[in-house]
Amino acid sequence: MDNNLEIISAKIAAAAEKSPNKGITDIQVVAASKNRDIATLKKLFATSRISALGENKVQEFVAKYDPDVVWDFIGQLQTNKVKYIIGKVRLIHSVDREGLAAEINRLAAKAGIVQDILVQINSGGEQSKGGVLAEDAEALADVIQNYANIRLRGIMAVAPIDASPQKLTELFTNVYEVYQKIKSKYPTIDTLSMGMSNDYKIAIECGATLVRLGRVLFDT
Ligand SMILES: *Cc1c(COP(=O)(O)O)cnc(C)c1O
Repeated sequence: MDNNLEIISAKIAAAAEKSPNKGITDIQVVAASKNRDIATLKKLFATSRISALGENKVQEFVAKYDPDVVWDFIGQLQTNKVKYIIGKVRLIHSVDREGLAAEINRLAAKAGIVQDILVQINSGGEQSKGGVLAEDAEALADVIQNYANIRLRGIMAVAPIDASPQKLTELFTNVYEVYQKIKSKYPTIDTLSMGMSNDYKIAIECGATLVRLGRVLFDT
């Protein structure tokens, strides 16, 4: 695991040199924590090289939750399950509809906090994945601006796993353009969560500021 982190950090630094975000050096790594036990996860977090653990299922999050580490929520989120994560996660990456944003806002207000969130884009338009289409992201961002207890920090994108490097470059570039457009309107935006084990180098070269990594971090 430590060795993996060394190699990954070097690859991230090399990819960041090609980023359209000129001079970016602080690409965040969120460790996708699904199916990993909390002892392993805490050991990884203790290296200080990752920004957060990213859980994608509410049930697994509840079972593993430990307030000594920083958590993000990165998976599809049912509105009636927001109550299990609010106040416990740094950033919710997967906001893809107004009803979900409204519930996050309601529970954040009740808890007396402002919840950081990202709008999720389904860049390949796949049925099985959450997220809005790239062309609908700005409209959702505009709606979210009206909620006092949500702070919009940017965009999260998922890409098809079977896409070619050329296709990924095209999809990620399109997401980056949407991100820049929204960023020019709203000053709180600074995060583009894009890239997983298979495609994080391409994602960074296309402008990602945060990558979500599972297999490359943990598998030997
Ligand atoms: C599992 C997961 C990842 C990481 O996937 P790997 O291919 O293991 O790097 C990233 N994002 C989400 C939403 C995930 O569920």
